[in-house]
Amino acid sequence: MQTRMLINGHLVNGEGPAWTVLDPAKGSALAQINEATEAQVDTAVRAADQAFQHWSQTTPKERASALLAIAEVIERHAEELARLESDNCGKPYAAALGDEIPAIADVFRYFAGAARCLGGLAAGEYLPGHTSMIRRDPLGVVASIAPWNYPLMMLAWKIAPALAAGNTVVIKPSELTPLTALRLGELVRELLPAGVLNILFGRGQTVGTPLVTHAKVRMVSLTGSIPTGAHIIGATADSVKRMHMELGGKAPVLVFDDADLDAAIDGIRTFGFYNAGQDCTAACRLYVQDGIYERFVERLGAAVASIKPGPQQAADTELGPLISAQHRDKVAGLVNRAIAQPHIRLVTGGKALPGDGFFFAPTVLADALQDDEIVRHEVFGPVVSVTRFSDEAQALEWANDSEYGLASSVWTRDSGRAHRLAARLQYGCTWVNTHFMLVSEMPHGGQKHSGYGKDMSMYGLEDYTCVRHVMFKH
Ligand code: NAD
Repeated sequence: MQTRMLINGHLVNGEGPAWTVLDPAKGSALAQINEATEAQVDTAVRAADQAFQHWSQTTPKERASALLAIAEVIERHAEELARLESDNCGKPYAAALGDEIPAIADVFRYFAGAARCLGGLAAGEYLPGHTSMIRRDPLGVVASIAPWNYPLMMLAWKIAPALAAGNTVVIKPSELTPLTALRLGELVRELLPAGVLNILFGRGQTVGTPLVTHAKVRMVSLTGSIPTGAHIIGATADSVKRMHMELGGKAPVLVFDDADLDAAIDGIRTFGFYNAGQDCTAACRLYVQDGIYERFVERLGAAVASIKPGPQQAADTELGPLISAQHRDKVAGLVNRAIAQPHIRLVTGGKALPGDGFFFAPTVLADALQDDEIVRHEVFGPVVSVTRFSDEAQALEWANDSEYGLASSVWTRDSGRAHRLAARLQYGCTWVNTHFMLVSEMPHGGQKHSGYGKDMSMYGLEDYTCVRHVMFKH
């Protein structure tokens, strides 16, 4: 197993303390990996800074060629990468291979094209006798910090636009799920000049902190929790770095009496529980209208109870474990406190599953109220709450009454209502009669405490550039 880091074009072992990487479906060790020391972080950032001198001057075509080559290498090693990802995250192998790897390759392909299509205001004489033009230039070294829920996908979302724009990158995957990132480092080492991409291993405090606070880092891109985001913003405030923050979510799902009930039940069964609900856009905070409420709860309970947990390799596995024992206990704590409330009805699930892995039963909690902890806080597990509402205005008010602002959905056959709500929901994305679907051409990102900055799309590419004005006096 490849466990060395990529620093300045070399594969090197960490010289810091060892950390055990687990298979969360079994609770057993997959690897022991030494994390980077502060000196190794410094070497990686300096290498990236040095490489920027050359990489920032390459043409978009050259950078696009490198990204296309990365996409190809990912596809060539699809099965190996999917297996590593599913072993390290516990997720079903079929989903890693069929859903994630193609989407990851597509992100590199998309940004290969986008690198050659950056737009801007037309050059012109906005002052008589002077010609103004817009440039979009790279920023320098980008420090990227990734989470554990989709390790390789998050790496792709971060490095593809950053490299496409001409920046160089030092990325730290989550210490819980480093295996695909480390293997990718080995696979792409020959495809990029030394120092353009550096991949470190280690924990947030020991490796993440010296990385994001490094004086040569010009931009920090984090996908992670709100506390981590707030901490990094505070810790780097003195050096005024560009920030790109993709933080937590608690997506409201508004289901109206006139919705296609079959589609809504099926959609929530899929989009609330995909990746064991460890998804920042998971369809988890349901508001269901009076007229269908009881029928909806009964049918959703039956649908969710049929979700099949199991080992990664089994073809019929739908639900993997949570990422760690600690995370499973956090999810159990939130669910136990909800169930202890007399008004909350446990429809299905509600407890950890027996065995060595960190599985939690798919759970539906009905009759939750707007101020309940289970409605307000991100669970990041296979748990949905259901709250009854009577009219559209109330549903909208409750949906927006949240510190989160990442994703939302509306389920209705009334297109006027769908447009009205889509215009007023304070979320980075609103889906109508679906949820969770992402495409490389469209932006993903939040507002409020869910953060700022966009992943994917031209907006994502633009985030990794600096807008500059150049003026010529005639
Ligand atoms: P986390 O914040 O615990 O960790 C994220 C990353 O930050 C890890 O690599 C970690 O090592 C690093 N980190 C932690 N402390 C740090 C510090 N002081 N300095 C620098 N780096 C530090 O989050 P997680 O548990 O890995 O991921 C789950 C969270 O991520 C959830 O809240 C989820 O909603 C969010 N998430 C958001 C999106 C999105 O697109 N908005 C996508 C996926 C996950």
